[in-house]
Amino acid sequence: MMDVMDRRTERIHLLEPVVADAIAAGEVVERPAAVVKELIDNALDAGATRISVRVRGGGIAAIEVHDNGRGMVPEDLPLAFARHATSKVSSLEDLTAIATRGFRGEALASIAAVSECTITTRSADASAATAVRAHFGTIHSPVTTARDVGTSVVVENLFGNTPARLRFLKGERGEHAAVLRSVMDAIIAAPACSFHCEIGEKAALSSQGGELRDVLPVIFGRGDAEKLLPFSGSEDGIHLHGFLSSPLSHHGNRTHLFVLVNGRRIHNAMLQHAIDDAYRGYLPAGRYPFGIVSIDCPREAVDVNVHPTKRDVRFVEPGVIHRAVHRAVWQVLSMAPIEGLPLTTSMVEPAVEHSLFAVQSASARKYAPPGNIVQDAPSSSLQLTLPDPGVPSPALPRISSLGTLRAVGQIRSTWLVAEGDAGIVLVDPHAAHEKILYEEIRRALAGEAVPMQALLVPLLVSMDPATVVHVPDIGEMLMQLGFAIDVFGEDMIRCTAVPALGREHVTGGTISSLVMDLLDEVETREKRLHRAAALLACHTAVRLGDALDLREQQHLLDLLVTTPEALTCPHGRPTCRIISDGEMRRAVGRPVIDQV
Ligand code: ADP
Ligand code: MG
Repeated sequence: MMDVMDRRTERIHLLEPVVADAIAAGEVVERPAAVVKELIDNALDAGATRISVRVRGGGIAAIEVHDNGRGMVPEDLPLAFARHATSKVSSLEDLTAIATRGFRGEALASIAAVSECTITTRSADASAATAVRAHFGTIHSPVTTARDVGTSVVVENLFGNTPARLRFLKGERGEHAAVLRSVMDAIIAAPACSFHCEIGEKAALSSQGGELRDVLPVIFGRGDAEKLLPFSGSEDGIHLHGFLSSPLSHHGNRTHLFVLVNGRRIHNAMLQHAIDDAYRGYLPAGRYPFGIVSIDCPREAVDVNVHPTKRDVRFVEPGVIHRAVHRAVWQVLSMAPIEGLPLTTSMVEPAVEHSLFAVQSASARKYAPPGNIVQDAPSSSLQLTLPDPGVPSPALPRISSLGTLRAVGQIRSTWLVAEGDAGIVLVDPHAAHEKILYEEIRRALAGEAVPMQALLVPLLVSMDPATVVHVPDIGEMLMQLGFAIDVFGEDMIRCTAVPALGREHVTGGTISSLVMDLLDEVETREKRLHRAAALLACHTAVRLGDALDLREQQHLLDLLVTTPEALTCPHGRPTCRIISDGEMRRAVGRPVIDQV
C-alpha cells in the first residue's frame, strides 16, 4: 500500500526494470484526444482544482493543458519525459493498489516522442518556474521562466514525425469531438474541479465545478439532464452511485452512458451487459439508456492494469459487480414513471403470453409443422391462428389475413377490439399506428422527402456541445425526414420545421433522439434513416392509453389493413393478436367446425 508518509512517492524516480516489465506495454497516444486525457489525468493527480484545455487544428497544431496543481521541482522536470519515470508507483505491490490516474510513467515520454512539447511548471516552494522543451524525443536543457504554481503542457505538431499516424485521424471536427469527450470524461470523473475547454479559440465546454449533479447539464444538455434519476447504494463492499435515464427517454447509441470504476471511465463488456440486461423489456429494441454509473470497489477487487490506455479493467469477482449494477438499475426503474411509456407493448407482452391464450397456443402447437419451434418466438401466437394447419412457412400471415376489420370498441382504455375475416382481432393501437406512420414515412423518403410544416415558434433544444458541432453534417438527412434544424449556440440547436404528419407530437426529446440516431457513424446512411423513421413513428403515434372514439378506431384499422407487413411494428413486435373461431371453440370446449 502507498504510505502517505513516504514522500518519495511524490518525487519522480525511474521504475525498476522488473516493475516496468510487469506493466502492460502499449501505445498511449493514439490520437489527440488521448493526449488530452493523459494531460488532464496528470493535472488531476497533481491536485489541480482548475484545468484549462485549448486545442487548435484538430489537436495536431496545438494542445495546451494548464493546471493549478502542485507542480514539479526543477530537478524532476527532465525525468518527467523519461519512459517509466513516475512519481506514482514504485513496487510491484503498488501496482495492485493504484489510487492515482496515471501510473505507468509513459504518457509524457510517448507524447514527447511524437511532438514538440514544452512543460512549464512551478512548485509551491520554488521562486520561479522551469520550462523544458522536447523536440520529437530530443530533450533540451531546462530554462527558468515565470508562471504561477502549477503546470502547463503545450504539445505542438503532434505526429509531425509519424505521418502514417495522421492518416488514421478523423479530420478536424472528428478529433475536436473526441477531445470534448475526453474533457467530459474528466468532468464526470472529477466534478469538483473546474474545467474550461476552448477549441479553435472558441469556448466549447466549461464546468464550474461542484457535485456530480451540478455537471449533468454540461454533459447531457439541459433537457436530458432533467430526465436523469439518481441512485446510490452499497452491497458486498461495492458502492454504486450515479444517474440513469428512465425508460421514457433513451438514445440510439451508447455514447452517453458513462461507466466509472474507482473514478476512472472504463469500457467494459460485462458492465455494459449488466446495465442493458436490467433495462431489458423496458426499452424498445435498438434503444439505450444514458447516464452515469459510478462504481467504487476495494482496490484489490479490480485490476486496472489490463489495457494500455486503461480503458478496461478486470474484476476479481465479476458476478458480484454484475449483481450490484443490476440492483442499481432496478432502483432507477422502480422510481421511473411507467404511465405513458411510449412503447408499452414490450412490457405488456409477457403478461399476455401467460394468459388464457398461452394455454391455447400450447394445445395448438400440434398443428405446427415438425421442427417449427412456435412457442419461443414472440410472433408464435399469430402463427397459430393460421387457418390451415398445413401451411409450411413459419412466417407471419400476410397482410391479406387481416382482411377488413370492423371496429367494435376499446377495452380498458387500451386495446382495440375488432372483428375480422380471421376471427377476433385485438389490436395494440400504439404499435399499429406506429407501423402505419413508419410505412408512410418510408414511402415519403422513397419519393422525395417527408412533407414539412414550419413552426410559428421555433423549438430550441439543448444538447451537449460535442453533439451540436456535428449537427450540420446531418442537416440534409434531417431535411429528408421533414425537419429544418440548425445550430443555435454551442449547446443548443433550433428547429424551425417539423414533419406535417405528427407536428403536435414532436418534442425536444424527439429531436435530440433523432439527432443522436442520425449521427451514429457506425451505421450506413440507409440504416440510420430507417431507424430515424422508426423513432419518428414511435414518438408521433397515439399512446397506449389514449382514448379513441369509434370513428378514430375504424380509421386506424382501415389504415392498418392497407399497410404492408401490418402484423408487426417497426421494432418487430406484433401489432395485434388474432383469435380464430377455431381457437375460441377449443377454448370453451365446443367442437371445431371444419372450415370450408
Ligand atoms: P504517470 O502519470 O503515469 O506517472 P506521466 O508520463 O504522465 O506518467 O508523468 C510522469 C510524471 O511527471 C508524473 O508521475 C508526475 O510526477 C509528473 N507530472 C506530469 N504532469 C504533471 C502535472 N501536470 N503536475 C505535476 N506533475 C506532473
Ligand atoms: Mg500520467
